[in-house]
Amino acid sequence: MAFKEKYSVAPIYLTAPSKRRSGLLMSPGVKFIVAHDTGNPKSTARGNRNYYENSRDEMSASAHIFVDDKEIIECIPALTNLKPEKAWHVLYGVPTDNQLFGYNANDAAIGVEYCYGDNINADEAYRKYIWVMAKICSVYGLDPATSIIGHCFLDPKRKTDPVTGLLQSRRTYDQFLKDIVSEFNDCTGVVADKYIFTAIPGSGKVLHRLNIRKGAPTTKADVIEIASPGATVAYTGFIKNGEPVNGNAKWFKNEAGNYFWSGAIG
Ligand SMILES: [Zn+2]
Repeated sequence: MAFKEKYSVAPIYLTAPSKRRSGLLMSPGVKFIVAHDTGNPKSTARGNRNYYENSRDEMSASAHIFVDDKEIIECIPALTNLKPEKAWHVLYGVPTDNQLFGYNANDAAIGVEYCYGDNINADEAYRKYIWVMAKICSVYGLDPATSIIGHCFLDPKRKTDPVTGLLQSRRTYDQFLKDIVSEFNDCTGVVADKYIFTAIPGSGKVLHRLNIRKGAPTTKADVIEIASPGATVAYTGFIKNGEPVNGNAKWFKNEAGNYFWSGAIG
């Protein structure tokens, strides 16, 4: 898949084998991404990488990629080299990574560190950070909407990253997740394919007052027609990834290309 190469990723690998870079390959391949921040304001991507190298045999903590406003540095093979190696960025003992993704993060997730502080242009660092997240999703066929998790959600007793670091860029974690999806769509050009349409025509009876929305399966789209209870409405097919309403994201599409929520018809 063509992906917009807005930035470059510099592989400057740590010496292996060492405590920080064992050289072991990720065993099931790359299944998800853990978002971190360095927890060390003002430290840069290059500075963190060099610190890792100089202390490579002192401890086994590590991550794959550091991002600041100037550079994206890959210090353990993950993205530019398609033989991704393990890094030690989440404790093995925490259970949430296994529950959510089926694997320990160290075995199956790329760890990406966000650098922040008043010497780092926060907007530029943030742009590079969401881009590299989207890029990893593209390379490994991951869904950008479901494949990224913050370290603090895996290890809530000990960690606050990347929420604390992102706040330095005036971004919330929720905004960060949305921005990765937007960046992915922008870089892959798949915006038009965001909704997956299944062409199975049919009709249904309106249960409650039904809003028919112009051109998009979301309550943000304009209402262009209202169908009354008891009326029959025909559709050409449906999409299952529209805006969820009461937890139901299935919307029908009519002949005119407009949408109505499936929960209002029977
Ligand atoms: Zn972390």
